[in-house]
Amino acid sequence: MGGFSYKDIYIEDGKRVLEVNILPEKHCNFDCIFCPIGRSYNKVDTPQSFDEIDNSLIELESMIENNKVELVFINSKGEALVNNKIGDIIDLIKSKGIPVRLLSNGYILGRDKYIQIANKCAEVIGEIKAISEEDFQKIQRPIEGYTLEEYISNMILFNKQYKGKFILEVTIIKCYNDTEESINKIKNVINKLSPDKIIIGRINDERFMKKLGISDKRLYEISKVLLNI
Ligand code: SF4
Repeated sequence: MGGFSYKDIYIEDGKRVLEVNILPEKHCNFDCIFCPIGRSYNKVDTPQSFDEIDNSLIELESMIENNKVELVFINSKGEALVNNKIGDIIDLIKSKGIPVRLLSNGYILGRDKYIQIANKCAEVIGEIKAISEEDFQKIQRPIEGYTLEEYISNMILFNKQYKGKFILEVTIIKCYNDTEESINKIKNVINKLSPDKIIIGRINDERFMKKLGISDKRLYEISKVLLNI
């Protein structure tokens, strides 16, 4: 039934979290070389319509009602904002009195129609991976014409007017953004963005760890620097 998929309910900070994917297959404006979902055959940044949305909404409603959910986390196969019904999905969840956390890679958060949608959410997660233009194009393979500068300024623009909790996820990637110079650049971006919370991670998909993963020690050192800003 429907095109959404769910993780088992889990507890986070004492709250029952329902994590939902609202894309039937991967749709993303990037095609990262380390993407855990695989290649982006649908590289898009405009609203897309999907089948069976009515059934999916009914299913989501009953998932919320039957599981005493306290937070819904929209974490999709790609960029959830391109589902043309995302506004209705968020409205439905909020009509049940449940807050929404939305994961976006952050690039299109600077566009008006997506700003309005993301503003409905209590929490929005944006991401930083590559920190030079060359690496952004090489390892995140975005839609043609995208630039790292615009990526960062879109998130800054969004967060300047956003009233909710903006969370920045930074992924450290071996040989791409793990040098002192890169960490300084990331620090500058964090200062400009002023997120409410920062999460530092690394590539931990087994298929890419050997080439792109950093050690526990390096992750600790970098986290100390970035989290003490
Ligand atoms: S932004 Fe995320 S979902 Fe999109 S290609 Fe990159 S890793 Fe995959």
